Amino acid sequence: MYINRKKTDMKSVTDQINEILIVDDIDDNVRLLTSILSSEGFSVCTASNGQMAMQNARNKLPAVILLDIVMPGMDGFEICRNLKADKLTQSLPVIFISALSDESSKLRGFESGGVDYITKPFKKEEVLACVRSHISISELISSKKRQAHRFQYVSEQYDSEVIRRKNIEARLKDSQELFNKVVQCNPVGIYLCELNEGGQLIIKNSNPAADRILRTNYKCIIGKPLLKVFPKLNYSSVPDMLFQVAIGELDNQTFEIECRNDKTNGIFEVTVFGTGTNSIAVNFLDVTQRRMSSQNDRILLRTLIDNLPVAVYIKDQKCRKIIANTADIENIGVLHESQVIGKTDLELFEGEPGSRGYSDDLHVLQTDQSIINKEEVFADKTGAFRWLLTSKMPLFDDSGKITGLVGIGRDITERKKEKEQINRLTKSIEQIPISFVITDINGVIEYVNPKFCEKTGYSSKEVLGRKSRILNPGKMSTSAHEQLWEIITAGNIWRGEFLNRKKNGELYWEWAMIAPIKDEHGRITNFIAVSEDISKRKQMETDLIAAKENAEESDRLKSAFLANMSHEVRTPLNGIIGFSELLGDSFFDEDQKKEFVQHIIRNGNCLLSIINDIMDISKMESGKVKIRQSVVDVKKLLFELRDQYLILSREKKIGFNLEIRKGDFSEQVSVFADVDRLRQILSNLINNAFKFTINGSISIGYRYSGDMIVFHVKDTGIGIPEEYQDIIFDRFRQVETSYARKFGGAGLGLAISKNLVEMMGGKIWLLSQPGRGSTFYFSLPIDLNLSVDLHS
Ligand code: ADP
Repeated sequence: MYINRKKTDMKSVTDQINEILIVDDIDDNVRLLTSILSSEGFSVCTASNGQMAMQNARNKLPAVILLDIVMPGMDGFEICRNLKADKLTQSLPVIFISALSDESSKLRGFESGGVDYITKPFKKEEVLACVRSHISISELISSKKRQAHRFQYVSEQYDSEVIRRKNIEARLKDSQELFNKVVQCNPVGIYLCELNEGGQLIIKNSNPAADRILRTNYKCIIGKPLLKVFPKLNYSSVPDMLFQVAIGELDNQTFEIECRNDKTNGIFEVTVFGTGTNSIAVNFLDVTQRRMSSQNDRILLRTLIDNLPVAVYIKDQKCRKIIANTADIENIGVLHESQVIGKTDLELFEGEPGSRGYSDDLHVLQTDQSIINKEEVFADKTGAFRWLLTSKMPLFDDSGKITGLVGIGRDITERKKEKEQINRLTKSIEQIPISFVITDINGVIEYVNPKFCEKTGYSSKEVLGRKSRILNPGKMSTSAHEQLWEIITAGNIWRGEFLNRKKNGELYWEWAMIAPIKDEHGRITNFIAVSEDISKRKQMETDLIAAKENAEESDRLKSAFLANMSHEVRTPLNGIIGFSELLGDSFFDEDQKKEFVQHIIRNGNCLLSIINDIMDISKMESGKVKIRQSVVDVKKLLFELRDQYLILSREKKIGFNLEIRKGDFSEQVSVFADVDRLRQILSNLINNAFKFTINGSISIGYRYSGDMIVFHVKDTGIGIPEEYQDIIFDRFRQVETSYARKFGGAGLGLAISKNLVEMMGGKIWLLSQPGRGSTFYFSLPIDLNLSVDLHS
């Protein structure tokens, strides 16, 4: 029926009821459908997603809904199902317009509640025909129903509005009641006042707390001027201030008043604020207790800071003291706080301390930065120097504005003095020329002074943490070591000498004192070793002992020499004197007297030889022996000596051989020497050989050795023990020293021989075996040009 109508007729109809809802997320589709439908007089509304579609469907109740299927979020099937599930929209005809052309999509469309299905691309006529057909059906079937729905919707809306208002009213009532309750129960006294025409603030309402605090009666005060009920508000500028708040010229005001009369007695904190035109609320709270307790707190705090052992002070923004505790007053040297209040450091301290303190204060106040633990020195009232450890911190009010500073000064004079004393002691220990070592109770080194490092060669780093034993080379016996520890761990001092070792292994002697260090409870915490290098003293001691032993030996030798001498001199003298006396005795015949003369001569020679030896040795010691070297015919000299000792050899029945190599007989064998001294040396050795040989033989000879000729005198005598083989060349040294000695002699022959050999540029030595004989060797230079000291 609608299809055949004119467009104008259609429009009027569609305007009323035929609104079409297009649901599609593609703008172009929406635009196309809108154009098609509008051209036919339909009014159109659109939605680009499921939510909008549901909303528009409920609000507008369109005649037909053209619904796309593929859309983000909620697809067309789901939108359709939702529309069908909603009572208000379930009768609206839904036509799917989709690019999905398969049968299953169409089936799903119908299952979800769709009434028709147009496949894209669609034709205009198809769309219009479809829409019109469903509008006509819809109109026929449900125009009344829709109106009923619409009515139902409107009435629902109305109902919900009524409910909403009722709820608001109920909430308002509740809130009013709550407000009244809060005001009634509030512990803060409240007056609601209004200005009357005369400019007076009249109390219009109050709460029970107001009556309780000011001891008034509600009925009596309502309608009365505020300033009469609250007389203290009359003071000074308060009434004017209240008036200004009431007329809105001032914001909220808070102030404190103190009431002391027969009714009220206390301190009140009052807050006034405007509540509307010409009206105010006056809130007041009794803060008497709070003020009293804060006063108590102040007293407590004051007592506390006055009893602190550190100076505490507070300064205002101009660096003036406003609080100074007892310690600070004492530091400054005044009697009472009032003498410092209001004064800056410039006024309190003279000179540099004053200006320094003042400029520090300024620094804190100007930069907001604290000064922490600054050491300060100043002279107190007695003129004595005192040290303070000062910290200054800025003080801020609630708004963060700097209001002054608080200073704390700890008197560290004693600590400083102690530190200085420790410094002095440390310096002394470091500079003292004595080694200091401090160990823990286990002997682990904790400190060494520089002298120790200098002495031992160890750096402190190398020894700290190590056992003091590193210095002990093990020369101290275990028992001595244990004894040392026993003494010091028992709390006593050990004194003694150590043989210690340096880093380079060198040993050195130390005199040491090791003492325990005890804490205040008498417990041993450390050991200290103080030691001094006594190596020099030790050396001196050793030298002295050696010198003493030498002296004793010399003394002994001298005594032995004198005893010897006495014997050696007296013996020939005795012969000389004795035989000389017999010469004058007629009892003896001429032959006997000749024999006596021979004895006298032999003894005289013997005596002469001793005297010569003594003379020689004393000349040698005073450097007066002269050597006259020349070329000596060695063979000639040896033959002479052989002849000389022939008689003695026969007498003693000891062979005496001359060892000359065969080839040497024809040629000249020369040596550069003093012939007399060479003879003297050989004679000394031959004499000794005869003296110390009982039987066997003696041989003398020579051999070449490089530039030297080495002479030897060999015997088969008693031999010389090894320990005497060196010392017999010292003067007065003899193997036999007792009075019961078998062999005579003064102990000078070898000493003289040695001196003479060395003077002529040679050496003397021996090989000997006790009981088997001895061979004495000495060398002399052959070369005439060999340089020797001829006149030493
Ligand atoms: P003297 O022979 O007068 O004691 P010397 O200086 O000549 O003094 O000798 C020192 C000591 O050396 C002798 O007393 C003797 O003990 C030892 N001595 C020297 N020559 C011999 C030797 N050929 N055999 C054993 N002992 C010897």
